[in-house]
Amino acid sequence: MPQVVIVGGGTGGSIVANQMARQLNKELQDGTVSISVIADSPDHIYQPLFLYLAFDQATPQDMRKPERQILDRHVRLISGEANRIDAEAQRVILTDGTSIPYDYLVIATGSRPAPEQIPGLVEGGHQFYTEDGAIQLRQALRDFSGGRLVVTVGVPHKCPVAPLEFTFMVQEWLKTRGLGDKTEVVYTYPIGRVHSIESVANWAAPVLEERHIETHTFFNMESIDPETHTITSLEGDTLSYDLLVAIPPHVGQDVIGRSGLGDAGQWIPTDRHTLQMIGHDNIFVLGDATNLPISKAGSTAHFEADVVAANLVHRLRGGLGMMSYDGKVFCFIETGLKEATYITFDYDHPPVPSMPTEMIHLYKLAYNRMYWLTPAGLL
Ligand SMILES: Cc1cc2nc3c(=O)[nH]c(=O)nc-3n(C[C@H](O)[C@H](O)[C@H](O)COP(=O)(O)OP(=O)(O)OC[C@H]3O[C@@H](n4cnc5c(N)ncnc54)[C@H](O)[C@@H]3O)c2cc1C
Repeated sequence: MPQVVIVGGGTGGSIVANQMARQLNKELQDGTVSISVIADSPDHIYQPLFLYLAFDQATPQDMRKPERQILDRHVRLISGEANRIDAEAQRVILTDGTSIPYDYLVIATGSRPAPEQIPGLVEGGHQFYTEDGAIQLRQALRDFSGGRLVVTVGVPHKCPVAPLEFTFMVQEWLKTRGLGDKTEVVYTYPIGRVHSIESVANWAAPVLEERHIETHTFFNMESIDPETHTITSLEGDTLSYDLLVAIPPHVGQDVIGRSGLGDAGQWIPTDRHTLQMIGHDNIFVLGDATNLPISKAGSTAHFEADVVAANLVHRLRGGLGMMSYDGKVFCFIETGLKEATYITFDYDHPPVPSMPTEMIHLYKLAYNRMYWLTPAGLL
């Protein structure tokens, strides 16, 4: 009986499991195939709500559901942390020593912020890329009485537009708290423009200027001094802050490094179309875990999951599974508290941000509520 094992029960892993389970319903019932998800957390977390949690517009309860409730009942849920993937022996070894064999492996372990890479960041900076970080930032924003609020960005990081969204939102939010005149908002970015995607940078730069948000490009954070409230860049510039919101650079998960499957950043070398791990016919990779130079976003994981699930089902039925991922990504971009725009793009077509509207903002809020249909494989 072929065994499909998926490591990671986040957005990408859950969609693959549920889409495959629906299509292989008969085989699963007959016991001629098995699908397992290894998940290191009992809850599935919808991370985009961290942004809203920081502004007290969402609670920790809104962003979680038990993974067991999300997965099709024919999918086996293995609760535990993958410690090592042995690609030679086709096994995943959990931290408790359990060894799980596979015929096909799907790696969907996501990524994590690595604040430890920047001296002083853990002590001196806030961020909204983890639940705890967003809760602490919520308190810091509540206590903030005005001054210089600096948003600085380390790369790579997931959801490339979230720092811009936060910057636009925080400026309006401070106005609603009567702190607009007492606050300067500053935004820094590591390369020579305000965003990695050129068309987004071309759209965002005049908006930042119009709103009198001070911007610094070529600013790669090197260290933070929590005593003097200063941040210094690799380029030699130093900025002072009263409140620092610093998006840490991200890395792939440590299990990838321990297994020797990734590059220096623990990203897995992945074929951009087939989503197979380079050199491994029976290992598929999706979402943040890949080394693909595209946005690490939930929508990316979603579109990739469609391809991985279809190809695996086809292969299990004797086909070759030649569906190809075209690099499709879709992202909403909040441009304040009441308006948003969106971008959609693929390997061949760069994004063109549209005029922000209240309707797009309402769509984003509606999607935040409907999200649970996505990992269920229904949307
Ligand atoms: C603040 C914020 C805002 C965002 N906004 C958006 C947005 O508006 N739109 C958008 O498309 N995306 C957004 N994203 C990005 C999106 O959440 C991620 O890109 C997406 O979740 C990636 O999916 P994934 O399946 O690759 O990883 P994840 O969803 O992170 O899932 C990985 C899973 O693997 C588990 N795992 C890791 N290591 C192990 C192990 N060793 N053993 C077992 N399990 C393991 C993790 O616990 C996790 O459950 C945002 C992210 C953040 C933080």
